[in-house]
Amino acid sequence: MRFSSVLAAAAVISAAMLTPATASPTSMSTLPDTISENVRRELAALPSDDYTLFERNAGPSHKLSKRAAQLNGIQTGCTRQNCLSITFDDGPYQWENKLVDMFANAGNQKATFFVNGFNWRCIYDDASVKQLRNTYEKGHQICSHTWSHPDISKMNNQQLDQQVQLVEDALWKILGVVPACIRAPYGSIRSDQVKYLNDRWGLVVVGWNYDTKDADGAGTQAGLKLYKNLRQPAQAIVLNHETVQGTIDTVMPQAVNIVRQNGYTSHTVQRNLGFNPYKVVGKYQNRDSSWTCDGTPAPGAN
Ligand SMILES: [Zn+2]
Repeated sequence: MRFSSVLAAAAVISAAMLTPATASPTSMSTLPDTISENVRRELAALPSDDYTLFERNAGPSHKLSKRAAQLNGIQTGCTRQNCLSITFDDGPYQWENKLVDMFANAGNQKATFFVNGFNWRCIYDDASVKQLRNTYEKGHQICSHTWSHPDISKMNNQQLDQQVQLVEDALWKILGVVPACIRAPYGSIRSDQVKYLNDRWGLVVVGWNYDTKDADGAGTQAGLKLYKNLRQPAQAIVLNHETVQGTIDTVMPQAVNIVRQNGYTSHTVQRNLGFNPYKVVGKYQNRDSSWTCDGTPAPGAN
């Protein structure tokens, strides 16, 4: 099943503000169970001022119930006037720093990176760790794209749990954050799984409404045409892949300026949709023997 390309019902949503959720926890049982158990165990051992918990969907000027309803289901188009979120799947990969520099040099725009744990690379590789930290520090958003990039529509909830949990554990170790958003590989996901990710894991499920089809071999001219034709009032979440060289070398260096000429500034999906980007924000952890992809689902596997 592919994501619908129909724009979500228009709604004016203010930029998300980070809103602390609860008083500082002191034990496992007071930590939200939407967070991976491994991360909760580590949080419970830390001084409570080492991290901050954030509520799902807490926008500044909307009642929580309304926000929650809006952010259930798959988020395709963004909802602010003239909004644009340029997104990249399948990283971290070798060209991520180049992308981050391009966005900085084109009006300090922001992108969203949907990353895997073990796909083209292992997320714990030194290079991956350095790139992710650079991307995060420059203000871009990091979301999950599952651990091993499987077709999750063929999986049961227990397998899905593992795909979510492994990425949460890794991003906690590497960045000191637990992501609040996920995108299904291939956009392939059952409606019951969208609800499960919303409810069990408190995740915002993000799709797209414009696809450069770079991973399908559409080529750089198709990608450039998409960006040239992207005109207001289109409210766009654009799908790209940071693992496609033509996207990095040819499309994006021009696209970041084309969109500005068309009156857009790319912002993160959390800003354009109005949700807290992370369930937890703490500090980078130090590498230890747990920083490994050994013993985890191999690329493409369940
Ligand atoms: Zn993917």
